[in-house]
Amino acid sequence: MKIIMLGAPGAGKGTQAEMICEKYNIPHVSTGDIFRANIKNGTKLGMEAKQYMDKGLLVPDELTVKILLDRVAQDDCKDGYVLDGFPRTIPQAEVLDKALTELNDKVDFAINVDVPDENIINRMSGRRACVSCGATYHVEYAAPKKEGICDKCGAELILRNDDKPETVKNRLSVYHDQTQPLIEYYSKKGILKEVDGTKAMNEVFNSIVDILSK
Ligand code: AMP
Repeated sequence: MKIIMLGAPGAGKGTQAEMICEKYNIPHVSTGDIFRANIKNGTKLGMEAKQYMDKGLLVPDELTVKILLDRVAQDDCKDGYVLDGFPRTIPQAEVLDKALTELNDKVDFAINVDVPDENIINRMSGRRACVSCGATYHVEYAAPKKEGICDKCGAELILRNDDKPETVKNRLSVYHDQTQPLIEYYSKKGILKEVDGTKAMNEVFNSIVDILSK
């Protein structure tokens, strides 16, 4: 099963992606996580990506598409995966479709986690990320057991540069300009499914499971 998660930054698609991956035992492929791992390891790709990420801009397609195609070609992705944060532009979606068509394959579902902009700004300012393993929390909705400390690895939790309010405003405008058109793109392909992302995390997840089991 190949699933794409769509939705504005902060809509909760990463959390839902993780829950889907756990239930269906398929890998969670997040281009944002791949970039952050590269930044942490000081790679050339990481240094390049960081310049865009810190401003709330998209990393250019030339860099992004290659890392994604390399990742999904790995062995653990052969029975499916959940893409979180990719595609973010129509050209990225077209490259993915072309690569899958060449393998006689296709995306099964594009799930749009719908949340209005007003809710997003509030949600993102409460988001905290682990400096070490990248796990994300929310001070109000998904707090760690101990404030400021990652439940999974014990490292420090921070507000990511790209979750700061001024950057979030940029990310939202980039989302509306470049990523939102994907909703129509997948709708035309007949694989778009919408869920109301303002509901509680488990309710959203149950709606997704309903969709995937049909
Ligand atoms: P995320 O963790 O998915 O919110 O991604 C964090 C940042 O990484 C984004 O704001 C972009 O700067 C960059 N990024 C992640 N995925 C992509 C993508 N598919 N295309 C371009 N930039 C991306």
